[in-house]
Amino acid sequence: MKIICVARSYPLHAQEMGALPPEKPIFFLKPRSAWAVSGEIIYPAFTQRLEYETELVFRVARSGAHLQPQQAVEYVDAITVGLDLTARDLQSELKSKGLPWEMAKAFDGSAWWGAWLPIPDGWEDVPFKLYRDSILLQVGYGRDLLFSLGEIIAAASRFFTLEPGDVLFTGTPAGVGPVQREDTLHVFFGDKQVGTFFVRSHS
Ligand code: MN
Repeated sequence: MKIICVARSYPLHAQEMGALPPEKPIFFLKPRSAWAVSGEIIYPAFTQRLEYETELVFRVARSGAHLQPQQAVEYVDAITVGLDLTARDLQSELKSKGLPWEMAKAFDGSAWWGAWLPIPDGWEDVPFKLYRDSILLQVGYGRDLLFSLGEIIAAASRFFTLEPGDVLFTGTPAGVGPVQREDTLHVFFGDKQVGTFFVRSHS
């Protein structure tokens, strides 16, 4: 299982990162070991700025490569909301040196997602949200994605063969921010709470 992530897929997030929106989807990967399967992370010692990115996440159901956008949506079968946790200070330092920033994105516990749901018609118009306790931190809509879901999956499949169980993070809308030690974070798809995530200060 691999975790395929899209970078800068919402124009306003690219802007808040000081970047231009890309002309084609840009991907990075996280390994299986990045999956916070227990629903919590211990705040990593290598960062002072751990940030949340709240994203629509899709589950890959079939093997495929070199797909066309029209057929590509048939290769995912479930949707949820997840967190692409990012060591922003480390990422900025690596970026400024022109170095790969995978360490800031693919570390243990950096990917988590809620319960899988069937993909509803009109999923693009369903708000996905992150709360700290009852405080709304971030909200987005799939309709604001720069590329269609089919375009994203097709583009990914030209580089990485899709395999059942792979997970696709479609990128964060604007409004990323820091997670705090001892945070309790809730993700929602529309009115449905799909999961809760904990940030521990130590084990
Ligand atoms: Mn992201």
